[in-house]
Amino acid sequence: LFDQVPTVPLDGTFALMEACRVDAHELKVNLTPGIYRDENAKTWVLPSVKQARAALLADQSLNHDISPQLGYPQLLSAARQLVFKDTLDGRFITSMQTISGTGANHFIASLLSSHLRPRTVWVPNPTWDNHREIWRHVDPGIEQRNYPYYDHETCGIDGDALLSTLKEQANTGDAIILHACAHNPTGVDPSPELWEGIAQMCEEKGIFPIFDLAYQGFATGDADNDASAVRHFTTRSSSGNSSTLEFAVAQSFSKNFGLYSERVGALHVVARTRDGAARVEGMLKRISRAEITSTPAFGARIVAAVLHDPVLKAQWRQDLRTMNGRLGDMRKRLYDGLTRRNTPGSWGHILTDIGMFSMTGLSPEKVAVLKDRFHVYLLPNGRLSVTGLTEGNVEYVAESIYQVVKH
Ligand code: PLP
Repeated sequence: LFDQVPTVPLDGTFALMEACRVDAHELKVNLTPGIYRDENAKTWVLPSVKQARAALLADQSLNHDISPQLGYPQLLSAARQLVFKDTLDGRFITSMQTISGTGANHFIASLLSSHLRPRTVWVPNPTWDNHREIWRHVDPGIEQRNYPYYDHETCGIDGDALLSTLKEQANTGDAIILHACAHNPTGVDPSPELWEGIAQMCEEKGIFPIFDLAYQGFATGDADNDASAVRHFTTRSSSGNSSTLEFAVAQSFSKNFGLYSERVGALHVVARTRDGAARVEGMLKRISRAEITSTPAFGARIVAAVLHDPVLKAQWRQDLRTMNGRLGDMRKRLYDGLTRRNTPGSWGHILTDIGMFSMTGLSPEKVAVLKDRFHVYLLPNGRLSVTGLTEGNVEYVAESIYQVVKH
């Protein structure tokens, strides 16, 4: 029976992580995953999370009852506040806990697939690989198309191409995936003007925006600043009227709480009417019931405890600054190491890119040489995750890249 099942190639990112894990070379460096590591290349447990976790574990009254259907209520209120703050006046919203950001992306794809039936979902070129997988898995009948995003010449965004492609080729009812901040894999985000252009285009053409908010806190080090694009979509006015855009936000707490294994996330759907929001709630409950019945509580309790406690929340904001400070320092050291060697290529963007990632501009062939000869692991598209750099390996990485590109 199973001989008929197609053979599926290994997932690229997980395969590389495994290859690196079993690589016995003492100088190996893993620059593939979007997982924050500390200065010892260890996955960091945020001090705010450590404190909230200790308090939870000490609580003898804690039981393991099932969460309500929408998820752990204190998580949902805190998650919503973190994204929208006080921008929701006059808007109607449904929030549901999900299996992290992946689950939130999956739920909105399911909801749209079963009820709005977009002809096309537009994804930025490039994007997080899993966007395509999720949509293919949910509904292979929905066409996936790239919209122009990264310009390899300028190492920035080609905003004109982005807008003109969508204006000319997208249809009413299509969906578009937008990285809310700290774009993966490029590390470059739209300017406020471009965000307004995108919002206008979505409104005029009737395109449904899906914000993927996986790195809130990693663009500027400040969670509020990093929600500005989403908040702009809720508050902007068009032709003197308040915004009527309906959209979704897929929120992850994996990165900004360092809770990679707990799978904490939320999906928020902003609707035009109370009735619309209620219908979305019913439909999301049905999807969730069929797929997971109920959400895991432990990680949700940690996030909620941090965000509802002013002292822990202040510590968390400091934790975000700590992570961003280290990433900024590693960017500077890598840039210095590359430019000191006169490494061919343009490297200035390493300093100005934001978040965990930068595109090195290395071809898949050069990336393979980097891995095979130097045991330095990048994604085949040349994406480098700054999180894997440390004071101890950054010079080795710079020298390895120099050796690979100097010919
Ligand atoms: N969206 C983007 C752009 C990501 O890079 C990731 C993880 O790498 C996710 C969503 C989902 O992550 P998780 O499911 O761990 O929340």
